[in-house]
Amino acid sequence: MAKREYQTVESGPHTYWDMLHPTIQKNYGQWKYHDRPRPGVLHHVSHTGDEVWTVKAGTHRQVTVDIARRLCDIADTYCDGFLRWTVRNNVEMTTDKEANVEPLIKALEAAGHPVGGTGNSITSMAHTQGWLHCDIPATDASGVVKSIMDLVYDEFKREEMPNRVKLSTSCCEINCGGQADIAIVVQHTRPPRINHDILASTCEMPSTVARCPVAAIRPTKVNGKPSLMVVEEKCICCGACFGACPAMEINHPEYSKLAIWIGGKNANTRSRPTNMKLVAHGLPNNTARWPEVAEKVLTIIKAYKEGGRDWERVGEWAERIGWKKFFEVTGLPFDKYMIDNYRHARNSFNQSAHIRF
Ligand code: SF4
Ligand code: SF4
Repeated sequence: MAKREYQTVESGPHTYWDMLHPTIQKNYGQWKYHDRPRPGVLHHVSHTGDEVWTVKAGTHRQVTVDIARRLCDIADTYCDGFLRWTVRNNVEMTTDKEANVEPLIKALEAAGHPVGGTGNSITSMAHTQGWLHCDIPATDASGVVKSIMDLVYDEFKREEMPNRVKLSTSCCEINCGGQADIAIVVQHTRPPRINHDILASTCEMPSTVARCPVAAIRPTKVNGKPSLMVVEEKCICCGACFGACPAMEINHPEYSKLAIWIGGKNANTRSRPTNMKLVAHGLPNNTARWPEVAEKVLTIIKAYKEGGRDWERVGEWAERIGWKKFFEVTGLPFDKYMIDNYRHARNSFNQSAHIRF
């Protein structure tokens, strides 16, 4: 069909193909094998005999224009201008010249970007938007990342863990974020406070009521004006209503805490995918270094490094030794809130890609 003058141009992500290094384009789907000559460097060999080296380095996630330009200059010098960011905010630079690998590593490290994050390392944390971009975060995800990654900097550059370790933070309980070996997740501990003065003028009430997963929000009248109320005995403090209605204020410097969950796994590798389990909660949202959270995360990492068998992920290690033992070796206190008795949860959720409900 002929394209009409007024037809809108389809927009969306640019095709990734143009961004691939020409040697990768040429050998697409023809790789013979790959290996890692050292932590932070991937080496791919094609059936055609071509080879490419990819150097991975950590970035700050919130990258300034100056940093982006500096990285682009490095890519121009050593990688024909080709670089890409991974989902964990590492930068990967690809070259088909082995002689460029060492100078590239030196240039990245001289610019403050540690080279590593491959294999059985602790790679950069996946995290959500935090205070910089989102309208409902109770903590600053990237700040937590900075404080934890500063402490595991050497583990990023080595491959000495039993298996890869994926960390994440989520700055609210319900939206982005996700499964990780060790995840730091905001935890609200009291129902939202309602600002009745602004609710009617700022919120669409039916959609706010519909947001609540346990039907705890009811229409009401306050001082003759329509508003909403929360049945606090039903409220699970999820914060979903706050996203729909800023007058349902749930964030609080004292009552919004942080929790640590472990054992999440998305892959079907070796064992089925698993949901994370709560192992610590009620930790203070203590900016700007979150020392209480960092200390617990490091304790878990240390115990896993000491006790995990080769290729065991964090959750597999905990399952093998048993959760009772997990709490013993980490010294984390266990309490009744860690027992999964949520009445709407199925025992296994969709934990397996083989069996779906
Ligand atoms: S996790 Fe929640 S608060 Fe954080 S960026 Fe996502 S939606 Fe916003
Ligand atoms: S915090 Fe969650 S459970 Fe509580 S009222 Fe809001 S949506 Fe409902």
